[in-house]
Formats: sequence, C-alpha cells, structure tokens
Amino acid sequence: MLKDRRLRKMAWIVLVLSCLCILLAYIRKEPEGAAVPAVTPTPGDEPKDPRPSTQLEQLIQSMMPTPVPLPAAWEQIAGARISVLPRRLKDMDVIVLEKGEGYGEAELWLEELPTTRQISVTISGIRGSALSDGQVKRIAKGTYYEGTPPTPTPTPIPTPTPANKDASTPVPSAIPSISPSDPYYVWQNDMVKGIVTTQVLEGDGSLTQTLLLTLDKTYVYYLYEDEFNYYIALIRPKDVYGKIVVVDAGHGGIDEGTLVAGREHMEKDINLDIVLRLKELLDAQDGIKVYYTRTTDWKPSLQQRVDLANDVEADFFLSVHCNSNETRSLNGTEVLFDSRQDEWEEMNSRRFAEIILEELDGYSGFLNRGLVPREHNLSIIKYAEVPVALVEVGYLSNETDLGLLIQNQTRQRVAQGLYQAILHGYEEMEKSGIEAEKKE
Ligand SMILES: [Zn+2]
Repeated sequence: MLKDRRLRKMAWIVLVLSCLCILLAYIRKEPEGAAVPAVTPTPGDEPKDPRPSTQLEQLIQSMMPTPVPLPAAWEQIAGARISVLPRRLKDMDVIVLEKGEGYGEAELWLEELPTTRQISVTISGIRGSALSDGQVKRIAKGTYYEGTPPTPTPTPIPTPTPANKDASTPVPSAIPSISPSDPYYVWQNDMVKGIVTTQVLEGDGSLTQTLLLTLDKTYVYYLYEDEFNYYIALIRPKDVYGKIVVVDAGHGGIDEGTLVAGREHMEKDINLDIVLRLKELLDAQDGIKVYYTRTTDWKPSLQQRVDLANDVEADFFLSVHCNSNETRSLNGTEVLFDSRQDEWEEMNSRRFAEIILEELDGYSGFLNRGLVPREHNLSIIKYAEVPVALVEVGYLSNETDLGLLIQNQTRQRVAQGLYQAILHGYEEMEKSGIEAEKKE
C-alpha cells in the first residue's frame, strides 16, 4: 500500500516535471511578435501555465479534474456552463470572442503589437457573418464587459490664473480624472479600450476578419477554443518571465534622426541595424524576454517607448542612437543615464550605463567619451522608472566615426558589446541578490 502510494506520488512528480519541461521549452521558443495559433483544449486539458516550479503545488491542483463553480461573470458567456474550460481560465482576465454560425472551419491567429498595447486577431475561414463588436466579450477583474468601450468625456484642463501665471513655481498639470457620471467610469477595469475590425471576402467565398484590439496594458496571451468561443487569457509579463529587457532603436519612420551624414547614412537606419543584430544574438539565448519598440522603419512616440519599458517592468531599458555635433572633431561613444536613480540599491541607470561603456570600450573601435547625466531634457530617460541607458554609439558628424558606423563589422561589434552588457548586468543583479540574501 505504502509502495503503491509512493509510486503514485513519483508518477505525479514525473508527470508534473515533464509538463514543466515541455512548457518551459514552449515558452522559450515562442518568438517575439509571432502569431500564436489557437489550440482546442481537450477535456481536462489545462492552460500552458508558464510559472516556475515554485508554484508546483498550484499546478498539481489545477491539473486535477475537479469541477469548480463558475464565477457569476461567466454567466453571460455562451456555452461557458457546459463547455469544459481549462480550470485556471476561470480565475484569469479573459477576452472571449463568441463564434456565430459557420465558424467550424475557422482558424484564429494572434499577433502582439506591444509598443501600441494592441493585439491583432485574425480569424480566417469564416463561412457565416463576421464577429460584431458585441461578440467581443471579456471578463476583467471578475466583471463582465461586452461591445465597444465608450470614449472618455474630455476633462477640461484648468487654465493658469493670473496669480500663479507669474509665479516662479510651475503650474501643476491637471491630473486626468473621470467623473462617476461618465459612462467610461465603470469601464475603467475593462482591459479593452478600442476595437477596430476589417474583413476581406476570399476567393473561395469565406471571410477573413481582423480585429485590432487596443488594451490597457501589455500582456502575454494564451489561447483556447471550444465550439462556442475563442478565449484569449491575459497574463502580465512579470508573472511569466523572470528577466525582461526593452530595446529601443532610436527614431524611425518620418523621424530620420540626425541627417548630418546625409540620406545615404540616416541615423534611424544605423540604430535599427545595430538593434536587429543585437536581436539576433538575444534570440539565440534562453531566459530573457525582450520587447523591441520597433523592428521595422516606423516611428513610435517617445511616450510609447518609455511606457513599454515601464509597463513590462523591464530590468533594463536600452535605447540605441548615434550622435552629431557642429564641432566635427568630436568623436566617440557616450552613454546617457539618469542620476536620480543613483539612490536605488541594486541595479540603476548609472551602473547599467557604466557596464555598457565597459563592454564597448576597446572592442567596438570607438573612443570612450564616458557617461553623461541627462535626466532633465530627454523623455526616454526622464520618464523611465527602470534602469535606463541611452547609448550614442558614435558621431555621424565625425569622419572617423562615420567610417566606422557604415561598416557592418563595426555594427556587429557594437551589437555584441551591447549583448554582453545585458548579460553582465544580469550577472551583477544575481550576485547582489545572493549577497543581500546572505546578509539577511
Ligand atoms: Zn538619436
């Protein structure tokens, strides 16, 4: 009897551990921004829980096929009472797309657009009508919502009075507030902030619909499907990934950056090329989730770039730029940082910037010009709430630096140095974490 129980326990542990291995492998392989196909859960199937083994107990629990009562918010989801939903889904924030007639052969794909906090959901092979906004349902913090979210009523911004106009203290900017009578008020917990749908009639008579959903935050998405609905479960990145980095290629799109070297060598292109080389290196390693503000030639706003880093609570926020100056003799690498983070105990902006300089110095081919505190007039640095560094690789206005910057070999070395800097940064964080533990 005892032997039996032990064997059963062993079998459970083996089963759980192998599931974890598969899950970890799955998570690591998932490429950034890639489309994720929906999976149909079989009865008793569970969401691909990406949490590490510290939550082993919970995982074992959630794998048990025990029936659980559905929260009241689920009552308005078609089929939710009779379909076999993965148990954990019932405790999560979920977007539910209700299928109509003719969705038997339909397939759903999801593309993440983290910089704009959007997801693009494409459903192909529809043999009926496209989804209406009303069929976009969701459960957020235990409350049910459906349809188009209302637009908030603009709140008037108070104008400065003559009394404080001349005062030396700046007028505090109005804190946006929504009055309880605004229909938007009750919707503030809703994660969906906008729905835009487009549809295309295919040659075979089927319909392909794309829903562009604007959300309140950046999430990691897990997809499920049954005969009634598609389910998109939302998890915050920090609950999934142990290490998160945000990499920003400066400028882009209509913003070409410094044009001192002419249109042949635009700053935005050099920044992006270095970042794509860095991406290749980061893609080849395991364990660090990286969000890129852009991987193509478009212009995210400065606010969107820094918001992404703050929203995902990045361990490091790296922005890549090139410099220019009227004094053409100026050359070399500078790293801009936020000295206000100096008081932070563990990793901070200054230390991250120092590490970058250490890794690039003597390797990238550029002169080391040192650190530059720039917290007051540079949005990316000013508003970052995470260790931030803005590297100005070299001067496009300097002949020697330009000669280096237009070489693939140099860009590769810079990318390699930045890659080493990120790894080095994590090593230091781990070391200080271990030392802090020892002190306790
Ligand atoms: Zn720049």
